[in-house]
Amino acid sequence: MTPRTRADLDLVPGYIPGRQIPGAVKLASNEVAEGPLPSVVAAIAAAATDLNRYPDTQATALQDRLATRLGVPASHLTIGCGSVMLCQQLVQATCGPADEVLFAWRSFEAYPLVTQVVGARQRTVPLRPDLSHDLEAMLAAITPATRLVFVCNPNNPTGTTVHREELIAFLDAVPGGVLVALDEAYHEFVTDPAVPDGVALCRHRGSLAVLRTFSKAYGLAGLRVGYCVAPEPVTTVLRKVSVPFSVNSLAQAAALASLEVEEELLARCQGVATERDRVRAELLAMGYPVPDSQTNFVWLPLGEQTTDFAEHCLSHKVVIRPFPGDGARVTISDAADNQLFLTAARSWRTPQ
Ligand code: PMP
Repeated sequence: MTPRTRADLDLVPGYIPGRQIPGAVKLASNEVAEGPLPSVVAAIAAAATDLNRYPDTQATALQDRLATRLGVPASHLTIGCGSVMLCQQLVQATCGPADEVLFAWRSFEAYPLVTQVVGARQRTVPLRPDLSHDLEAMLAAITPATRLVFVCNPNNPTGTTVHREELIAFLDAVPGGVLVALDEAYHEFVTDPAVPDGVALCRHRGSLAVLRTFSKAYGLAGLRVGYCVAPEPVTTVLRKVSVPFSVNSLAQAAALASLEVEEELLARCQGVATERDRVRAELLAMGYPVPDSQTNFVWLPLGEQTTDFAEHCLSHKVVIRPFPGDGARVTISDAADNQLFLTAARSWRTPQ
């Protein structure tokens, strides 16, 4: 007899990663084009000599360094095996089977997955016509069963943002007892001053958690390390539900070393933001409707034409991320890769 697994997981689709195709440029996973800086590589190599030892399960050195850097108590920080794992820990920390997680849709593909894996229920609210979060509708969708609300700012995959006043009004109105998780995976690429810094907001609030990652701006996607800033009672539970030793020692060493060269890494992000604005302007000039993006990707809402567009890009050896029936997300890379994509986009039939 086949071992009995949870029936409610039968219909859960697995996470679909960006495709890797030999010889093609990959613009499908929102990675940065450049690898870790030499000092970070050296720190990883040095940490490799100790791999017979378990890592510090709480990543204390990184936690303390981040606490100083962000101006929050270390007791408000949880280090995780990528911020996606922290998304799951937030659901585990707040929800039992009858409880609800609320998020906008379309947003980060992992939200429904981690919700279902934990066994909680999901409630989604459509994005506004301009593809930004509809915070008023989200507020109205909160029920007595809601325990957690994800707000992805800027939003993956649309690149759109929630501005400071709007977010503060929303946070003020969310009922006590409901935790808001502000996912700032792309925070370092934001150039619009109206977009708030979640950590600054978090210092004065008891029901806000902020997620950040070393995968994007810091170029460490392969090592899996992210963090959550949250009030102490939330942090205490987040740490309890983390899988012991899940943040490995190379990741901890690399994240610490990256913070030492942060200025250089953040300057790289500014370069990506400049390229992003250039790529968007070119796409707009070609007739593509591309919303303003504050991330390291752009969104092309091509609806039913999305798959055809992605296949066309593939024939030009450019792998993008299609969300069939909805739109295509294209990561901003270096100027040469971006140009390959723009050439492909130019030779596709104009969107209708
Ligand atoms: N949040 C958002 C919005 C993301 O786009 C991603 C990565 N695609 C993550 C979280 C997870 O990043 P990581 O697990 O690599 O830290």
